[in-house]
Amino acid sequence: MKFDQILIRYGELSTKGKNRRAFVAKLKRSIKYALKDKRFDMLEIEATRDRMYILLNGADYREVADRLKKIFGIQSFSPVVVVEKEIDAIKQAGLDYIAGLEKPISTFKVTTKRADKSFPLETNDINRAVGGHILWHNQQLSVDVKKPDLNLVVEIRKEAAYLTGEIIQGAGGLPLNSSGKAMLMLSGGIDSPVAGYLTMKRGIEVECIHFYSPPFTSERSKQKVLDLAEVLSYSCGHMMVHVVPFTDIQKKIQQQIPENYSMTTTRRLMLRIADAIAEKQGALAIITGESLGQVASQTLHSMNAINEVTTTPIIRPLITADKLEIIKQAEELGTLEISNRPYEDCCTVFTPANPKTMPRREKVNYYESFIEFDELIEAAVNHTETIHVKPGKTIENSEMDDLL
Ligand code: ATP
Ligand code: MG
Repeated sequence: MKFDQILIRYGELSTKGKNRRAFVAKLKRSIKYALKDKRFDMLEIEATRDRMYILLNGADYREVADRLKKIFGIQSFSPVVVVEKEIDAIKQAGLDYIAGLEKPISTFKVTTKRADKSFPLETNDINRAVGGHILWHNQQLSVDVKKPDLNLVVEIRKEAAYLTGEIIQGAGGLPLNSSGKAMLMLSGGIDSPVAGYLTMKRGIEVECIHFYSPPFTSERSKQKVLDLAEVLSYSCGHMMVHVVPFTDIQKKIQQQIPENYSMTTTRRLMLRIADAIAEKQGALAIITGESLGQVASQTLHSMNAINEVTTTPIIRPLITADKLEIIKQAEELGTLEISNRPYEDCCTVFTPANPKTMPRREKVNYYESFIEFDELIEAAVNHTETIHVKPGKTIENSEMDDLL
């Protein structure tokens, strides 16, 4: 089926009262951004107070739809066929619509909305004419007015007639960049990409921080993280990954902190570095994939001891989620398979045999007081490499000018 337009419905956005105009503008911007691609140059976007229309101008509907599914702030969308306001043309378009459906249906109904009252036929006449034409050519179908598989909506407006049927679920949430920026601590694990996605869904702009310990962790483990960031970039068009060299700090911890406290200190340093990068980047919060009780660093006692190093808000979207729920979300998001790749993470390499599940603040502060970490932290921040990721590719810095 060749579609002419995509109709976009706003959802939660529509409850935003006075801010509505700003939200619509943000949504329009993120749609434009997600569709910024030479193949989509012909698209036009028209935003109204209640809906948005993408005029396809010959672009492939499926490709555009795949991108739209990932954009926050869209409740649902529908492909639209536009035909001249003439009953034979509308009947034929109805028939073509059924023939072009991807999933077979057995029942349908036609619902006409006649905004243009000058159209010679009444609503019921149009329903009957289009429905009858479809039935005549599709003997296997029947009409069900209560719960049809397809409700084919025919809208007669001034300029033309519009046919829509399928309603495709959007990602929901709020349009991107409507609520400030946060830094996602992105490991190669299952949880942190999901945590990042859920935060982005609330309109927050996200940049990633990854701690990397070569030669203990390989290039492939770094690539794994970039691939995860790439999946997230589909929701925002572009993702920054700050890769922090962490080897020197980890070695220092291993040498100088008692083994059962090394994990607590490692996390505290990660957080201090994340905090410094957040400040540099103008971010207001840090996001982690922590989930209560999952591992030794995620007990309430551990979090209490680790969190002490910062007053920056920490967003933990998965804090009460079960692992199985998270796995399901990761699968839907498309990150599970990447996270399951067996490459090492800087934490797993240095994980002590018996990390403290109930570390004490006084003790960890005491152990750390013998070590001068400030310079190491500064060096790690200064040597952080920033990599840009876009749907389909990792971008060299030189290409950034074209993008931004
Ligand atoms: P994940 O699946 O996200 O790795 P996890 O269950 O393995 O989580 P931990 O390894 O304890 O849990 O990590 C807890 C959180 O700390 C992660 O969700 C992530 O936000 C952050 N984190 C851990 N390792 C790194 C890393 N190498 N770089 C950046 N952040 C990390
Ligand atoms: Mg991990």
